[in-house]
Amino acid sequence: MNENNTGVVFDVQRAALHDGPGVRTVVFLKGCFLRCQWCHNPESWSPEPEVAVQPDSSGQYRTFGSEMSVQDVMRIVLRDRIYYKVSGGGLTLSGGEPTLQFDFCRALLGAARQQNLHTCLDTCGHNSQETFAALLPLVDLFLFDYKLTDSQAHLLWTGAGNELVLSNLDFLYRSGARILLRCPLLPGINDSQEHFEAIAILNQKYPRLHGIEILPYHDTGHYKFGLLGMDPPRFNTSVPSEEEQRKYRQILASLGVQIGN
Ligand code: SF4
Repeated sequence: MNENNTGVVFDVQRAALHDGPGVRTVVFLKGCFLRCQWCHNPESWSPEPEVAVQPDSSGQYRTFGSEMSVQDVMRIVLRDRIYYKVSGGGLTLSGGEPTLQFDFCRALLGAARQQNLHTCLDTCGHNSQETFAALLPLVDLFLFDYKLTDSQAHLLWTGAGNELVLSNLDFLYRSGARILLRCPLLPGINDSQEHFEAIAILNQKYPRLHGIEILPYHDTGHYKFGLLGMDPPRFNTSVPSEEEQRKYRQILASLGVQIGN
Protein backbone atom coordinates (compact mmCIF):
# COMPACT_ATOMS: atom_id res chain seq x y z
CA MET A 1 0.00 0.00 0.00
CA ASN A 2 1.36 3.43 -0.75
CA GLU A 3 2.21 5.72 2.10
CA ASN A 4 -1.00 7.72 1.93
CA ASN A 5 -3.25 4.85 0.97
CA THR A 6 -4.47 6.83 -2.01
CA GLY A 7 -5.05 6.28 -5.72
CA VAL A 8 -6.32 8.12 -8.78
CA VAL A 9 -10.03 7.72 -9.49
CA PHE A 10 -11.76 9.20 -12.52
CA ASP A 11 -15.36 8.34 -11.76
CA VAL A 12 -17.62 6.86 -9.12
CA GLN A 13 -21.02 5.68 -10.30
CA ARG A 14 -23.65 4.84 -7.74
CA ALA A 15 -26.76 2.74 -8.39
CA ALA A 16 -25.11 0.89 -11.28
CA LEU A 17 -27.00 -2.16 -12.50
CA HIS A 18 -24.79 -3.68 -15.21
CA ASP A 19 -21.41 -4.34 -13.63
CA GLY A 20 -22.11 -7.31 -11.41
CA PRO A 21 -25.14 -8.50 -9.45
CA GLY A 22 -27.61 -6.19 -7.75
CA VAL A 23 -27.22 -2.49 -7.15
CA ARG A 24 -23.58 -1.50 -7.14
CA THR A 25 -21.19 1.37 -6.78
CA VAL A 26 -18.60 1.27 -9.56
CA VAL A 27 -15.28 2.94 -8.85
CA PHE A 28 -13.20 3.67 -11.95
CA LEU A 29 -9.44 3.65 -11.38
CA LYS A 30 -7.17 5.45 -13.79
CA GLY A 31 -4.48 3.71 -15.81
CA CYS A 32 -4.62 0.88 -18.35
CA PHE A 33 -2.07 -1.44 -19.95
CA LEU A 34 -4.05 -1.79 -23.16
CA ARG A 35 -5.07 0.70 -25.85
CA CYS A 36 -8.26 -0.79 -27.28
CA GLN A 37 -9.25 1.23 -30.30
CA TRP A 38 -12.92 1.04 -29.33
CA CYS A 39 -12.31 2.18 -25.74
CA HIS A 40 -15.06 4.46 -24.48
CA ASN A 41 -12.96 5.58 -21.51
CA PRO A 42 -9.73 6.90 -23.09
CA GLU A 43 -9.44 9.24 -20.12
CA SER A 44 -8.58 6.09 -18.16
CA TRP A 45 -5.43 5.31 -20.10
CA SER A 46 -2.97 7.52 -18.25
CA PRO A 47 -2.62 6.73 -14.55
CA GLU A 48 -2.25 10.45 -13.81
CA PRO A 49 -5.00 13.05 -13.39
CA GLU A 50 -5.55 15.02 -16.61
CA VAL A 51 -7.08 18.35 -17.48
CA ALA A 52 -8.63 19.24 -20.84
CA VAL A 53 -10.15 22.44 -22.20
CA GLN A 54 -13.74 22.08 -23.36
CA PRO A 55 -13.87 22.48 -27.16
CA ASP A 56 -16.78 24.92 -26.99
CA SER A 57 -16.21 28.64 -26.54
CA SER A 58 -16.68 28.50 -22.77
CA GLY A 59 -12.98 27.90 -22.22
CA GLN A 60 -13.87 25.80 -19.20
CA TYR A 61 -11.55 23.11 -17.98
CA ARG A 62 -12.55 19.54 -17.42
CA THR A 63 -10.64 17.33 -15.03
CA PHE A 64 -10.25 13.61 -15.51
CA GLY A 65 -9.21 11.89 -12.32
CA SER A 66 -8.30 13.02 -8.86
CA GLU A 67 -6.49 11.52 -5.95
CA MET A 68 -8.71 9.85 -3.38
CA SER A 69 -7.98 7.87 -0.27
CA VAL A 70 -9.49 4.49 0.51
CA GLN A 71 -11.53 6.23 3.20
CA ASP A 72 -12.79 8.85 0.69
CA VAL A 73 -13.98 6.12 -1.65
CA MET A 74 -15.50 3.95 1.06
CA ARG A 75 -17.43 6.90 2.48
CA ILE A 76 -19.24 7.13 -0.87
CA VAL A 77 -19.56 3.38 -1.32
CA LEU A 78 -21.11 2.83 2.10
CA ARG A 79 -23.89 5.35 1.46
CA ASP A 80 -25.72 2.66 -0.49
CA ARG A 81 -25.18 -0.22 1.88
CA ILE A 82 -28.91 -0.71 2.34
CA TYR A 83 -29.38 -1.18 -1.43
CA TYR A 84 -26.55 -3.71 -1.58
CA LYS A 85 -28.17 -5.69 1.19
CA VAL A 86 -31.57 -5.81 -0.46
CA SER A 87 -30.28 -6.50 -3.99
CA GLY A 88 -27.16 -8.59 -3.43
CA GLY A 89 -25.02 -5.78 -4.82
CA GLY A 90 -21.81 -4.19 -3.62
CA LEU A 91 -18.59 -2.65 -4.90
CA THR A 92 -17.20 -3.03 -8.43
CA LEU A 93 -13.72 -1.83 -9.31
CA SER A 94 -13.34 -0.89 -12.95
CA GLY A 95 -11.17 1.38 -15.05
CA GLY A 96 -9.02 1.52 -16.98
CA GLU A 97 -7.50 -1.62 -15.66
CA PRO A 98 -7.96 -1.44 -11.88
CA THR A 99 -5.12 -3.84 -11.14
CA LEU A 100 -2.64 -1.33 -12.59
CA GLN A 101 -2.99 0.57 -9.29
CA PHE A 102 -2.39 -2.67 -7.45
CA ASP A 103 -1.92 -1.36 -3.90
CA PHE A 104 -4.95 0.89 -4.06
CA CYS A 105 -7.04 -1.80 -5.74
CA ARG A 106 -6.14 -4.32 -3.05
CA ALA A 107 -6.77 -1.82 -0.26
CA LEU A 108 -10.23 -0.95 -1.62
CA LEU A 109 -11.19 -4.60 -2.00
CA GLY A 110 -9.91 -5.29 1.50
CA ALA A 111 -11.91 -2.38 2.92
CA ALA A 112 -15.05 -3.67 1.18
CA ARG A 113 -14.40 -7.13 2.59
CA GLN A 114 -14.13 -5.70 6.09
CA GLN A 115 -17.59 -4.22 5.59
CA ASN A 116 -18.94 -7.54 4.26
CA LEU A 117 -19.67 -6.07 0.84
CA HIS A 118 -19.82 -8.18 -2.30
CA THR A 119 -16.86 -7.34 -4.55
CA CYS A 120 -16.42 -7.44 -8.33
CA LEU A 121 -13.23 -6.77 -10.26
CA ASP A 122 -13.68 -5.68 -13.87
CA THR A 123 -10.45 -6.63 -15.64
CA CYS A 124 -8.93 -6.96 -19.09
CA GLY A 125 -6.83 -9.80 -17.68
CA HIS A 126 -3.55 -8.23 -18.77
CA ASN A 127 -1.37 -8.21 -15.66
CA SER A 128 0.91 -10.70 -13.92
CA GLN A 129 -0.40 -13.97 -12.49
CA GLU A 130 1.01 -12.90 -9.11
CA THR A 131 -1.23 -9.84 -9.18
CA PHE A 132 -4.36 -11.91 -9.75
CA ALA A 133 -3.26 -14.49 -7.18
CA ALA A 134 -2.93 -11.74 -4.57
CA LEU A 135 -6.35 -10.26 -5.34
CA LEU A 136 -8.22 -13.54 -5.70
CA PRO A 137 -9.16 -13.93 -2.00
CA LEU A 138 -10.71 -10.45 -2.04
CA VAL A 139 -12.87 -10.81 -5.16
CA ASP A 140 -16.30 -12.46 -5.21
CA LEU A 141 -16.75 -12.18 -8.96
CA PHE A 142 -14.32 -11.36 -11.76
CA LEU A 143 -15.80 -9.52 -14.75
CA PHE A 144 -13.20 -10.82 -17.18
CA ASP A 145 -12.94 -9.45 -20.74
CA TYR A 146 -12.47 -11.70 -23.72
CA LYS A 147 -11.89 -9.41 -26.67
CA LEU A 148 -10.30 -11.18 -29.61
CA THR A 149 -9.40 -14.78 -30.41
CA ASP A 150 -6.50 -14.20 -32.77
CA SER A 151 -3.48 -12.93 -30.85
CA GLN A 152 -2.18 -10.90 -33.81
CA ALA A 153 -5.55 -9.18 -34.08
CA HIS A 154 -5.52 -8.63 -30.32
CA LEU A 155 -2.12 -7.00 -30.69
CA LEU A 156 -3.33 -4.86 -33.58
CA TRP A 157 -6.50 -3.61 -31.89
CA THR A 158 -5.48 -3.45 -28.22
CA GLY A 159 -1.70 -3.06 -28.28
CA ALA A 160 -0.89 -6.50 -26.81
CA GLY A 161 -1.36 -10.14 -27.72
CA ASN A 162 -3.86 -12.26 -25.78
CA GLU A 163 -1.58 -15.00 -24.38
CA LEU A 164 -1.31 -13.38 -20.94
CA VAL A 165 -5.07 -12.79 -20.81
CA LEU A 166 -5.81 -16.42 -21.63
CA SER A 167 -3.28 -17.78 -19.16
CA ASN A 168 -4.73 -15.58 -16.40
CA LEU A 169 -8.24 -16.71 -17.25
CA ASP A 170 -7.07 -20.30 -16.97
CA PHE A 171 -5.21 -19.60 -13.73
CA LEU A 172 -8.18 -17.87 -12.10
CA TYR A 173 -10.61 -20.57 -13.17
CA ARG A 174 -8.39 -23.36 -11.90
CA SER A 175 -7.91 -21.46 -8.64
CA GLY A 176 -11.66 -21.53 -8.03
CA ALA A 177 -12.50 -17.92 -8.95
CA ARG A 178 -16.04 -17.04 -9.95
CA ILE A 179 -15.79 -15.53 -13.41
CA LEU A 180 -18.26 -13.76 -15.66
CA LEU A 181 -16.77 -13.67 -19.14
CA ARG A 182 -17.58 -10.41 -20.90
CA CYS A 183 -17.18 -10.24 -24.67
CA PRO A 184 -17.24 -6.87 -26.43
CA LEU A 185 -18.62 -7.34 -29.94
CA LEU A 186 -17.59 -5.01 -32.74
CA PRO A 187 -18.93 -5.41 -36.28
CA GLY A 188 -16.16 -6.18 -38.74
CA ILE A 189 -13.57 -6.55 -35.97
CA ASN A 190 -14.54 -9.62 -33.96
CA ASP A 191 -18.06 -10.69 -35.00
CA SER A 192 -16.59 -13.62 -36.93
CA GLN A 193 -17.60 -17.26 -36.79
CA GLU A 194 -14.09 -18.06 -35.57
CA HIS A 195 -14.49 -15.76 -32.57
CA PHE A 196 -17.96 -17.05 -31.71
CA GLU A 197 -16.65 -20.62 -31.88
CA ALA A 198 -13.74 -19.68 -29.61
CA ILE A 199 -16.22 -18.31 -27.06
CA ALA A 200 -18.12 -21.60 -27.28
CA ILE A 201 -14.88 -23.54 -26.71
CA LEU A 202 -14.15 -21.47 -23.58
CA ASN A 203 -17.70 -22.12 -22.42
CA GLN A 204 -17.12 -25.87 -22.72
CA LYS A 205 -13.62 -25.77 -21.27
CA TYR A 206 -14.78 -23.80 -18.22
CA PRO A 207 -18.18 -25.23 -17.23
CA ARG A 208 -18.19 -23.45 -13.87
CA LEU A 209 -18.16 -20.01 -15.48
CA HIS A 210 -20.65 -17.77 -13.73
CA GLY A 211 -21.90 -16.74 -17.17
CA ILE A 212 -21.08 -15.10 -20.48
CA GLU A 213 -22.20 -11.61 -21.44
CA ILE A 214 -21.85 -9.76 -24.70
CA LEU A 215 -21.07 -6.06 -24.72
CA PRO A 216 -22.15 -4.53 -28.04
CA TYR A 217 -19.86 -1.73 -29.17
CA HIS A 218 -21.04 1.82 -28.54
CA ASP A 219 -19.35 5.06 -29.47
CA THR A 220 -20.60 7.35 -26.71
CA GLY A 221 -17.12 8.04 -25.32
CA HIS A 222 -15.31 8.76 -28.57
CA TYR A 223 -15.61 12.52 -28.31
CA LYS A 224 -13.16 12.25 -25.39
CA PHE A 225 -10.27 11.35 -27.71
CA GLY A 226 -10.48 14.82 -29.22
CA LEU A 227 -11.03 16.44 -25.85
CA LEU A 228 -7.81 14.88 -24.55
CA GLY A 229 -5.82 15.77 -27.67
CA MET A 230 -5.46 12.11 -28.64
CA ASP A 231 -5.51 10.79 -32.18
CA PRO A 232 -8.97 9.48 -33.06
CA PRO A 233 -9.37 5.68 -33.12
CA ARG A 234 -7.96 4.21 -36.33
CA PHE A 235 -10.63 1.66 -37.06
CA ASN A 236 -13.81 1.34 -38.94
CA THR A 237 -16.72 -0.25 -37.17
CA SER A 238 -20.29 0.66 -36.35
CA VAL A 239 -22.67 0.40 -33.45
CA PRO A 240 -24.40 -2.99 -33.94
CA SER A 241 -28.11 -2.72 -34.62
CA GLU A 242 -30.70 -4.58 -32.56
CA GLU A 243 -30.93 -7.03 -35.44
CA GLU A 244 -27.16 -7.66 -35.41
CA GLN A 245 -27.21 -8.14 -31.65
CA ARG A 246 -30.03 -10.64 -32.01
CA LYS A 247 -27.97 -12.45 -34.63
CA TYR A 248 -24.95 -12.61 -32.30
CA ARG A 249 -27.09 -14.19 -29.61
CA GLN A 250 -28.58 -16.67 -32.06
CA ILE A 251 -25.16 -17.74 -33.34
CA LEU A 252 -23.86 -18.20 -29.82
CA ALA A 253 -27.01 -20.08 -28.77
CA SER A 254 -26.56 -22.41 -31.77
CA LEU A 255 -23.06 -23.12 -30.43
CA GLY A 256 -24.47 -23.93 -26.99
CA VAL A 257 -23.65 -20.59 -25.34
CA GLN A 258 -26.43 -19.03 -23.29
CA ILE A 259 -25.91 -15.30 -23.01
CA GLY A 260 -26.65 -13.85 -19.62
CA ASN A 261 -27.66 -10.33 -20.75
S1 SF4 B 1 -8.90 -2.58 -21.44
FE1 SF4 B 1 -10.77 -1.38 -21.15
S2 SF4 B 1 -10.09 0.61 -20.37
FE2 SF4 B 1 -8.28 -0.43 -21.21
S3 SF4 B 1 -8.12 0.35 -23.30
FE3 SF4 B 1 -9.28 -1.56 -23.36
S4 SF4 B 1 -11.44 -0.94 -23.27
FE4 SF4 B 1 -10.19 0.82 -22.57
